[in-house]
Amino acid sequence: MTGAPVGLLIGGDRITSTGHTHEHIFPATGLPNATVAMAGAADVDRAVDAARAAQREWMAQTVDMRRDRLIDLADAVHQHLDELATLNVQDYAVPISFAGTAHMLEGFLRHFAGYADKIAGSSTPVSGSFDVNLVEREPYGVVGVIAPWNGALAVAGSCVAPALAAGNAVIFKPSELAPLAALRFGELCLEAGLPPGLVNILPAGAEGGDALVRHPGIRKVHFTGGGTTARAVIRAAAENLTPVVAELGGKSGNIIFDDADLDRAAMLSAHQGPLMQSGQSCACASRLLVHASVYDTFVEKFLAVLDSAPAGDPFDPLVRFGPVISESALTRILDTVDLAVSAGAGELLTGGKRMGGPLAQGFYIEPTVFADVDNSSPLAQTETFGPVVSISRFTDDDQAVRTANDTRYGLNAFVHTRDLRRAHRVSRALESGSVWINSTSRISPQGPYGGYKQSGFGRTGGWEGLLEFLQTKTIRIGLD
Ligand code: NAD
Repeated sequence: MTGAPVGLLIGGDRITSTGHTHEHIFPATGLPNATVAMAGAADVDRAVDAARAAQREWMAQTVDMRRDRLIDLADAVHQHLDELATLNVQDYAVPISFAGTAHMLEGFLRHFAGYADKIAGSSTPVSGSFDVNLVEREPYGVVGVIAPWNGALAVAGSCVAPALAAGNAVIFKPSELAPLAALRFGELCLEAGLPPGLVNILPAGAEGGDALVRHPGIRKVHFTGGGTTARAVIRAAAENLTPVVAELGGKSGNIIFDDADLDRAAMLSAHQGPLMQSGQSCACASRLLVHASVYDTFVEKFLAVLDSAPAGDPFDPLVRFGPVISESALTRILDTVDLAVSAGAGELLTGGKRMGGPLAQGFYIEPTVFADVDNSSPLAQTETFGPVVSISRFTDDDQAVRTANDTRYGLNAFVHTRDLRRAHRVSRALESGSVWINSTSRISPQGPYGGYKQSGFGRTGGWEGLLEFLQTKTIRIGLD
């Protein structure tokens, strides 16, 4: 157990006593790592008050002053990249070799700082009159940003940065499972000279999250997480008709055509699949669709890449494969595997067990691959959020696209081919917010990124991501 509770950040204050705490467990060892104070309804009230005052102060600054403060924040993040990366590893035991989200945060801050002094409205003509009609873009005021445990710093970049650039104050709720890097980000906001209260960090679980969504002072909610939680968030937000952006999960198809560079496709597919945060990423390519003529060769190469990825201490820079987030996630994932085996959903080629030896106390699951999986099986249809992938074969392009689209999700799709015409044709036919050709999911601040179908609505990144945090006002000046 590790000392006094880690506190919330409201205004410029750390609040350590909220009446609720969460024991943060380090997934690589299964041992307690920190006690974290959890926000409740009273803390949300206090944070909304602090945020309202700070937002007025923020908007009293000129656009160039706000731009410069955001650049200062990006500089502060830059100076603390190693510290943030370390906290990211402590949060959820993502291997440090993979913990690039601190860089991502810096990149998004620099990108959106550039927008802060360029948010322009327009003027339009009006029918039947010579009046002046101005269209202005304004911030919402105080917005709530809810992050999943696997992406607090990424969400700080893709959502908090544009929210601030647009002139809002933010109440940022990281998951109770991974609050440490987010809290340090909140401190850096203060150190960079942002008004206290402009960014408040409230680690909480469902109860605190629900209080945040229901608060009448929250004018917009940006939610990233799973579909089941999203439904609860949208229902709660409906009480005050608060608008919600939803960035949700995926079950991404990864199509390997017969003309693909198979070595490269195998390497990218492994790193985008079971090796990507142990499959715990919304972008995980969890359904591989491989042309029948290269199926055996591809599968052999794919398994070889998985075999060569060292598992172990996430702080070791050579380690590529870490644990899953919790004991309960481990149980859920292994249950999914057992069910798939007993239902004959496919042939288990490798994995399917908890790792033993020196890793036995952590929540490690072997990279798990099922071959010849029926796409209608729960294994192929449900987001496992663990190092489990399914492979099935196809014989023509139409079948590949049909199978890739045969899911309720639509976040990412991956295509491996050397044929440019096929790449374009297939990309257009895929029902997915992003299509990555001969590539992994390299999300950039310029965006846009977001889902089709049940993978959500709204976008992060670029102008579209900024618009999520702006509302439009029309001002008509009568001249007639
Ligand atoms: P989750 O849905 O369990 O939780 C997400 C967040 O919502 C957490 O902060 C949680 O504490 C909070 N929450 C829980 N109940 C709530 C309630 N009733 N009201 C308000 N907030 C509540 O998801 P998770 O396990 O943290 O993250 C994994 C999910 O996130 C996966 O489905 C993954 O695909 C998705 N994800 C999506 C993206 C994206 O950009 N589309 C990025 C990362 C993760």
